[in-house]
Amino acid sequence: MKKKNKKQNLIKTKFYLLFFIITALFPGFSCSENLSREEYSRVEFVLGTVCQIRLLTTLPKERVDEVFDASFEELVKLDAIFNANTEHSDYGIGELDRTEISELELVNQKAGKESVPVSKELFELLSIALDIAKKTDGAFNPAIGALVKCWDIGFSGKSVPPKEEISSALAISNFRDIELKENKSSSAKIEYRVFLKKEGMRLDLGAVAKGYAADQLSSIIRRAGIEDALIDIGGNVLALGKNAKGRNWGIGLKNPNIGEQDIAGVLHVSGQSVVTSGNYERYFEESGKIYHHILDCKTGYPVETSLNAVSVISDKSLYADLLSTTCFVLGEEKSRNLISELRKKTDSEISILFFYNDNSVRLISEDKLSLEIKSPFVF
Ligand code: AMP
Ligand code: MG
Repeated sequence: MKKKNKKQNLIKTKFYLLFFIITALFPGFSCSENLSREEYSRVEFVLGTVCQIRLLTTLPKERVDEVFDASFEELVKLDAIFNANTEHSDYGIGELDRTEISELELVNQKAGKESVPVSKELFELLSIALDIAKKTDGAFNPAIGALVKCWDIGFSGKSVPPKEEISSALAISNFRDIELKENKSSSAKIEYRVFLKKEGMRLDLGAVAKGYAADQLSSIIRRAGIEDALIDIGGNVLALGKNAKGRNWGIGLKNPNIGEQDIAGVLHVSGQSVVTSGNYERYFEESGKIYHHILDCKTGYPVETSLNAVSVISDKSLYADLLSTTCFVLGEEKSRNLISELRKKTDSEISILFFYNDNSVRLISEDKLSLEIKSPFVF
């Protein structure tokens, strides 16, 4: 069983490596100014995607292996909390066999029945997600799980579901029906609980969990004394310090036009995350129309927009991930207010690139960015 999983994961790894949404450019090799640094890399299939960690350090290999072990253990732990797709047969987590459902799935199964004690991590991420849901009037919606399952895009969903099924799913996808409670017990230990008020309701944190995970890995890596690293969780990239040439990391932005495999631009970053949400990532075609995986809770259908993709650059990967999805739904104008509010509130750097279907590109930024946009894309 384990052997079969391992083989499947290897095939998945190869497949996903070919289709990375964002490609880390300039792979490392030592140069004169950094002779003592070595580059190490480990890749595994976790959180339903390919995760690669690259570390540049003078630490001995045994110590580096410990950092890799701790990082991937953290990812497996977060997977067991956040995964919304544990029942899919093609789901895999590295070398481990899954025998139990995720914490998030447990909350979903108890929807309409009882509140469930949860980890600090799930409570923390849900609190942030709910806050953004309120600020955007549900454009970002962590209670979208029933609607996501109804379409099932990227898994079994290959045709438009019947209207009645979409309406029923929408009726149980209201973020206001999520109840979060913190109880301080006598031992001063805080108990976190989540209750979904409607039966059949489902949480889905697929739009933000990878960013949260990347930030957690960043802490582990920095605590180990490693300053230069590239964390890539299925295209959700976080670059720390410098690359092997002692320069900022070059992050390629994939051409968002469906069927194109080249890049639309390159960002040179250090201490920042780059995350893209686009209609080309997971979709199906019916009667000449593309149905993609980012859904509009006002209509129940994939977001109708002239955008092909939104890339967010932020020092916090959580916000890069959360905002790439949110701003794709909101569009450029409505995103402006949200971003300026979040910049102040969270003390984060946030820049956003909007890629339109006529190949025009627009940037909202207050920070200095090193960005090259390639033809046919134009500012
Ligand atoms: P991302 O690839 O980060 O943009 O996240 C897309 C995933 O987030 C989808 O596959 C769904 O699981 C979920 N999702 C889709 N639409 C929304 C939405 N409007 N709000 C929150 N999550 C969504
Ligand atoms: Mg996202």
